[in-house]
Amino acid sequence: MGDANAMRVGLGYDIHRLEPGHGFMLGGVRLACSYGVVAHSDGDVVLHALTDALLGATGAGDIGERFPDKDQRHRGRPSHEFVREVLALPELMPWRVVNLDVNIIAQQPRLDAHKPAMRVFLAELFRLMPARVGVKARSNEGLDAIGAAEAIAAQAVILLEPKR
Ligand code: MG
Repeated sequence: MGDANAMRVGLGYDIHRLEPGHGFMLGGVRLACSYGVVAHSDGDVVLHALTDALLGATGAGDIGERFPDKDQRHRGRPSHEFVREVLALPELMPWRVVNLDVNIIAQQPRLDAHKPAMRVFLAELFRLMPARVGVKARSNEGLDAIGAAEAIAAQAVILLEPKR
C-alpha cells in the first residue's frame, strides 16, 4: 500500500509562561515589550509549534524527543535552528512544504504590528512564497492564564507534498 503520492499534514502546539522582562522571540522576530518568556531555549512558541508540525507530518517524533530541555546544548538556542535541523532530517527529505498556517494566542503583548515581519521570516525559513504562510493572532478574551497575560501559545499546521 504505497502512499508516495499522498500528502501529509502535521499539527503543532506550544505554550510558554510569560514573566516581566524586556522582550522575547516570536515567529523569529524579536518583540520589544515588558514581557519575557520562561524557556530553556529562546522560547519561540511559533517556531516550536511549527517544529512539532513538521515532525508530526512525517511521524518523526516530537520536539521534546528531538531537543530535550534537559540537554544543555539546547540552552538559549535560537529556535529557527530546530526548524532547520528538522527540515534536514532524512524523514523530511522526500517532502516539500506546500503551506503553513499559525495561530498565536496572546492577551499581551499586542501582535498586529509584528505579524508582517513574522510572515517574512517564516517564508524565508521555509523557502515559501508569502502567500503560503499564514500568521494569525488573537487574544484569549481575558480568559485563563493566557487571558491574564501569564502565558502565550501557538498552534500550527503544515501541509507536505511529495517531491517529484
Ligand atoms: Mg516550547
